[in-house]
Amino acid sequence: MPTLLIASRNAHKAEEIAAILSDSFAVQTLAKFPAAPEVVEDGGTFAANAVKKATEIAAWLDCQARLDFVLADDSGLAVDALGGAPGVHSARYAGGESNAPDGANNAKLLRELADVADESRGAQFQCVLALVALGQAAEVKTFEGICRGRIAQAQAGQGGFGYDPLFVPDAHELSFAELGREVKNAISHRAQALAKLAEYFR
Ligand code: IMP
Repeated sequence: MPTLLIASRNAHKAEEIAAILSDSFAVQTLAKFPAAPEVVEDGGTFAANAVKKATEIAAWLDCQARLDFVLADDSGLAVDALGGAPGVHSARYAGGESNAPDGANNAKLLRELADVADESRGAQFQCVLALVALGQAAEVKTFEGICRGRIAQAQAGQGGFGYDPLFVPDAHELSFAELGREVKNAISHRAQALAKLAEYFR
């Protein structure tokens, strides 16, 4: 089975990716490589940041680990009424230059949308995965997934992470945090990008 490192320190993301990929890959996370560099996410798009994370971690790892692939995820929430914000700034929406706690990001989003009616609260989660085969770091494949939904008027549910308590996917009435892992992993932006990656390997 090929070995794949998830180039993320976000344990929730890594867990979601591992749950979907672990039948086909021996999955490792950056927890095993505490000395790996912190990649500065200064790209203007999810794709630019995902490629940067995958290539920088692959370059660092190349001579020190027996791994086949490095996979990076850059993702976030784009809200229609906010012109696509918070977008690539999703993790640091309420934090200026640095990442903010999920609760603060969710509270800011609710404040920004306080005057926006239900029918105008459309939004989408986006995910770009960047895949590098170690030894071939110049060649990067990307896979994108988008999940449409809307932003609720209040947080609900305990599952997931990030904006999950506020995001109600299309065709559902409950938030990702209420729907739970199985439903989220079947329809999420990350699941859709991973399905494209699986298709590529097939
Ligand atoms: P980054 O990709 O590490 O820059 O951060 C992505 C940020 O987007 C996370 O910290 C969350 O705030 C948000 N995000 C990405 N994917 C999800 C998801 O599946 N659920 C909820 N929030 C997400």
